[in-house]
Amino acid sequence: IYGTAAIVGRPNVGKSTIFNRMIGERKSIVEDVPGVTRDRIYGKGEWLTKDFRLIDTGGIQLANEPFSEEIRMQVEIAIDEADVIVFLVSGIEGLTHDDEMIARMLQKSQKPVILCVNKIDNSERKDLIYEFYALGLGDPIAVSGVHGIGIGDILDQMVAAF
Ligand code: GDP
Ligand code: MG
Repeated sequence: IYGTAAIVGRPNVGKSTIFNRMIGERKSIVEDVPGVTRDRIYGKGEWLTKDFRLIDTGGIQLANEPFSEEIRMQVEIAIDEADVIVFLVSGIEGLTHDDEMIARMLQKSQKPVILCVNKIDNSERKDLIYEFYALGLGDPIAVSGVHGIGIGDILDQMVAAF
């Protein structure tokens, strides 16, 4: 294993869709931490002969807590466990307060971050990536999990960061 990457982002941006694209096989792991369910969040992938571990943090759930607390915990686990973080946002829904909160946590962590704008399904949507420069995390990558666009670009940057 060359390294571990984690996908973070608020609910519904497409984390699981991208995870499934990057991983051929899925594993189901449940840990005995009270109130925390870890279900089908770890996968293994390979890119250009390099094996990596991938975490879909959206599968880490916290019972009876507000969404923002759940996201916060997901990002903390990603920062603890991953060598590089794939931060996913949605071009269709646009920049949100939760995106900004996640960006601040990631900046503090000093971990390498790959900012990816999902749901850029066609070239007319390309301009939707620009507002995300405001997060201060560098150049966003345009991706479409549904159509498989940009996945290779994410993988290139991931393995370069290991
Ligand atoms: P998660 O909550 O972040 O894991 O997001 P999911 O992977 O479950 O996706 C949430 C919704 O967004 C689903 O209805 C997906 O089909 C949709 N979705 C995911 N990726 C794309 C994409 O690239 N384009 C579009 N248009 N929809 C997407
Ligand atoms: Mg999910």
